[in-house]
Amino acid sequence: MTRLHDHVHVLQARSTFWPAPGNIVVIQDDVGVALIDCGFGTEEGRDGVAEALSSLGLDIRAVHTVLVTHPHLDHAGGIGLFEERVRVLGPSRLGVLVANAHATAELIFPTVLRDLAPERADLEIVEHFETDCGTSAAPVATTVVEPGDVIHLGRTRWEAIPTPGHEDGMYSYFEPELGILACSDVLAAKGTAIPWYAPGGGGTAGYLAGLARIADLPVDIAVRGHGDALFGADSVAEATTITSDRIRNRTSLIRRELTARPRSFADLELEIYNQRVYGVIPWAASVLGTHLLEGIEDGTLRRDGDLFAAVG
Ligand SMILES: [Zn+2]
Repeated sequence: MTRLHDHVHVLQARSTFWPAPGNIVVIQDDVGVALIDCGFGTEEGRDGVAEALSSLGLDIRAVHTVLVTHPHLDHAGGIGLFEERVRVLGPSRLGVLVANAHATAELIFPTVLRDLAPERADLEIVEHFETDCGTSAAPVATTVVEPGDVIHLGRTRWEAIPTPGHEDGMYSYFEPELGILACSDVLAAKGTAIPWYAPGGGGTAGYLAGLARIADLPVDIAVRGHGDALFGADSVAEATTITSDRIRNRTSLIRRELTARPRSFADLELEIYNQRVYGVIPWAASVLGTHLLEGIEDGTLRRDGDLFAAVG
């Protein structure tokens, strides 16, 4: 548990390696506790949160509000384990997605990729999400957050900043008084595949636009979805630049490689992550898929059977 301010803490997962739960911001107020994100929807995940809260002298039953950045199960799966009286706020479709492993799998590795990457056509992830990540038994009632909304949690107020790309409709939440940004999986972090993105998640242009929004904010502390929080405006700015550069560099790298000679999806994958990453999270392939589909769409790349090539 890391203290960010009086009554604001971060509950940090011990590991950053999948399947590790995402970090949780804990905000205490006079009537109880609010969380930003809440980890997996498994019993084990819930016990971990309860234990960490008790180290602050807090009871998990005191949680009255959960504000969610994005609907991935390592950050939002837990919303299904709270009682109905707990207010849940987040992107649209959040409440439905956490209860549907098929829909979640479609976000993470969309069907369109099965055609693009023949060797991944049979990728099975639904059961993994259902069993290991804990999908909710039923859809969860939520309040939909709109861009620019201000959400009051105790004495803190969090502005909803659209940061799509990692997931469609994703928000980072900014507390201007404290200079704290809860940006979850937007900023790159060691020991993760981030920046990670799939087709349909907002695109690389959407991702870069969200990063530009973050760069314009006076952020002193950034709480990432995995790994340590970043302290100081300089380290936040550096992580923002590193993340943008990584996305742009992938676009130019793929273009350069395909200008040299046509290559297959499997071959190109290794330019993005090393083989070990695909062994742990085969859906890392979504990143290459996003770039290829965007390139085909804007006419800079084309597909010939199982090979991809640059145009012009
Ligand atoms: Zn995550």
